[in-house]
This record gives sequence, structure tokens and C-alpha cells, in this order.
Amino acid sequence: MVEYKCFDCGKNIDSTTLRRMVRCPYCGGKMLYKPRSVPTKVKAR
Ligand SMILES: [Zn+2]
Repeated sequence: MVEYKCFDCGKNIDSTTLRRMVRCPYCGGKMLYKPRSVPTKVKAR
């Protein structure tokens, strides 16, 4: 699953959401970027 991030509010946006609207659903910003190779989820064992 690919996640994008809003440049303005910094919220994660799912790629399925962006298939309909190419803008941030939270603030309406168009500046979206894809954080690559950033370990957002770390499994604690
Ligand atoms: Zn936003």
C-alpha cells in the first residue's frame, strides 16, 4: 500500500483516496509527496 503525505498538514493519505481526488482531503492542499524508504511502522517484539 502506497501512502502519500501532505506537504501542508503532514497527514498521511492513502493511495486509494488519491485515485478519486488528487489533493489532500484534510486541508485541500495539492502539495503531496511520497515518503520513500521511511520506516513508519516498527514492529516491537
Ligand atoms: Zn493536507
